[in-house]
Amino acid sequence: MMKILVANLGSTSLKYRLFDFSNGGEKMVSKGGFERVTDHSAAIESCLADLEKGGFIRGAKDLAAVGFKAVMAKGVNGCVRLDAKALEAMEAFSCITPAHNPPYIQGIKLFAKKAPGTPLVALFETAFYQWAPEAAMRYAVPEAWFKAGVRRWGFHGASHKFIAERSAELLGRNDVAERARNLYVDGGKTPVKTPNLRVISCHLGGSSSISGILNGVAIGNSLGMSPQSGLPHNDRVGDMDAFALPFLMRTQGLSLDEAERLMCKEAGLKGLSGKSNDIRDVAEGAGKGDERCKLALDVLAHNARHWIGSYFLQLNGADALIFTAGIGENQASMREAICHNLDNLGIVLDPAANAKARAQEAVISSADSRVKIMVIPTNEELVVAREVKRQLQNN
Ligand code: ADP
Repeated sequence: MMKILVANLGSTSLKYRLFDFSNGGEKMVSKGGFERVTDHSAAIESCLADLEKGGFIRGAKDLAAVGFKAVMAKGVNGCVRLDAKALEAMEAFSCITPAHNPPYIQGIKLFAKKAPGTPLVALFETAFYQWAPEAAMRYAVPEAWFKAGVRRWGFHGASHKFIAERSAELLGRNDVAERARNLYVDGGKTPVKTPNLRVISCHLGGSSSISGILNGVAIGNSLGMSPQSGLPHNDRVGDMDAFALPFLMRTQGLSLDEAERLMCKEAGLKGLSGKSNDIRDVAEGAGKGDERCKLALDVLAHNARHWIGSYFLQLNGADALIFTAGIGENQASMREAICHNLDNLGIVLDPAANAKARAQEAVISSADSRVKIMVIPTNEELVVAREVKRQLQNN
């Protein structure tokens, strides 16, 4: 029996999926979650109790491991067993990931108590970018800053890796799918046929990022040193000139803590629209003529186009443009805004197919579009579960 529970921890949420890999199979047997969580300890107990009640496990002892889609840690990358050292390494980067690492560290410690003896394993969101070209990952900073961790890391690795595999399968390139699947085993050495497969993956959700993927391996990601960068997020800032911060602190008397809070909680779609951090509310406002809501949507689309353009150039064109995550899978109007007027690049949406596509795999480009545009629902937990399984088998 090989059952692996994958926990997705937010500051006020716990989502989980249980996978069964027994007898060489791969099946998601249960999923669930809790929103507006104030007591993570109680939520973890309820998660384990629900799995027992449903007959999926007879107790935490039945779990071969609990896997975590952890974000980042200092000096640790890839898929690792969560011991005291790994937790310390996560702690060391908590100040760059205030919305992510603290709830994960707390949740991991709680799981250690509730499921004593069960291996706890993390797949870090930065893992997918370990083979990206160095020039794409460096900032022009003093060497000592780089050594301290000031560089691009890239995030949403589980999601973009899933897209790398699934898009290749859907495009009939099983060689590339296999290369992506083996990435954490052989570092992208699995041979592939020609021509190159060039994919641009747009993960647009509560936080958003875009990756360029060449033959199943990432060449970069719009998220930089922290998961607050790149595109505007629901309530986090996205890219902003680094000099804006000292300017605001000096001229407006803003404290560092307050500036950090505002960049994490009052920025992004929420800050731009002045209305909501959820694109559904912002789109509704824009539909009623609210100018700030319209601008918020325009800024998101503009930034998405900026990064798509960057990877289109780095990849010397693209074979596929993929939309995934909450906004990418569901918000047809945002996909339309992003793909608008790109026919000279061979990117042409089919408006009817786009309007219809929602939370299911679908091709949404027109028949004459050189670039295939697709919606592919992501499955980050599956990517985590597969790597956790491999980690257990190798150790
Ligand atoms: P996270 O990054 O938090 O995991 P998700 O991928 O679940 O995010 O995306 C959540 C966001 O996606 C929401 O904040 C909302 O803006 C958007 N979203 C979710 N469902 C829908 C929907 N049915 N239609 C449009 N947008 C949606």
